[in-house]
Amino acid sequence: MWLSEPICSFRNCLPTKISRQLRRYFVDAKVALCDDFRNLFALHWGKAIGLRVSILASGSSGNITLLETESTRLLIDAGLGKRETLARLAAVEKSVDRLDGILITHEHNDHCSGLPQMLGLWKAPLYVTEPTMEALERTLPETLGKRLRGVEKIQAGQRFCVGDIEVHAFAIPHDAADPIGFTFRADGVKLALVTDLGYMPALVKVHLRDADCLVLESNHDLDMLKVGPYPWVVKQRVLSRTGHLSNHAVSEFLADPDGFDARARFLVLAHLSMENNNPDLARISAEEALSRRPAEFAFEGQLLVASQQVPLAPIQL
Ligand SMILES: [Zn+2]
Ligand SMILES: [Zn+2]
Repeated sequence: MWLSEPICSFRNCLPTKISRQLRRYFVDAKVALCDDFRNLFALHWGKAIGLRVSILASGSSGNITLLETESTRLLIDAGLGKRETLARLAAVEKSVDRLDGILITHEHNDHCSGLPQMLGLWKAPLYVTEPTMEALERTLPETLGKRLRGVEKIQAGQRFCVGDIEVHAFAIPHDAADPIGFTFRADGVKLALVTDLGYMPALVKVHLRDADCLVLESNHDLDMLKVGPYPWVVKQRVLSRTGHLSNHAVSEFLADPDGFDARARFLVLAHLSMENNNPDLARISAEEALSRRPAEFAFEGQLLVASQQVPLAPIQL
């Protein structure tokens, strides 16, 4: 943190054109700086910092997750309004006076509708890919531009640091401008967070390996979707290769030791559809898949289901 602050102040003094050219360099440069800083910090204090994950809401009506270490706080997506976000933070006994960044997975409303309010509330820098930023500028109200306090343009495949959290962004197949998933590492633990994807490409599976906590979309039950209330065209969209992961697709992944390595202490099923799924169905489907694994690759962690209506109790890694 100390190291990145002077860099940010220095950059803000530069003419916009030079600042833009330097931005990529600084985002990349921070990787090395943050690694050194984190190691120094851990060496000096000699204790685990850990990662705490609070999924405040998950589903097609709003997504927002708070990620914390001792010194850094990040918000992943901003799909709820200010009042609801604050109420959910209070429900998990958090009052957030300062944020170090807001990271955006993609521009869909359920991930960004509260973004102008969140920026107004915390004045945190926004971490977003260029195509997603352009889509946000088209769809969100003008207040977005007025409330921006710095934009860090990121790319799929890129690794960067915010405070003592190392972030790795990777591409996912979804019908948005430039959708990404994230892994986060801090103090030797790893969180992987991936929702809103039509299928599981091999590269995504690689990113999810070695995670201590895996938050994975389990959006719909195929039968419920087929007979459910959605118009045919929406059903086709959800089912497509750029739609959403079904319970069935998740079960295929979880049952396969070559896909899911089962190292996670916490496996969280997320982004459940309220119309085309229910928590019991998603859980039973995942449990059945995990029970099919060979004994030597058994999953021994905790299986949780994130909710649209209420926050999940914070997970301490
Ligand atoms: Zn979504
Ligand atoms: Zn989406």
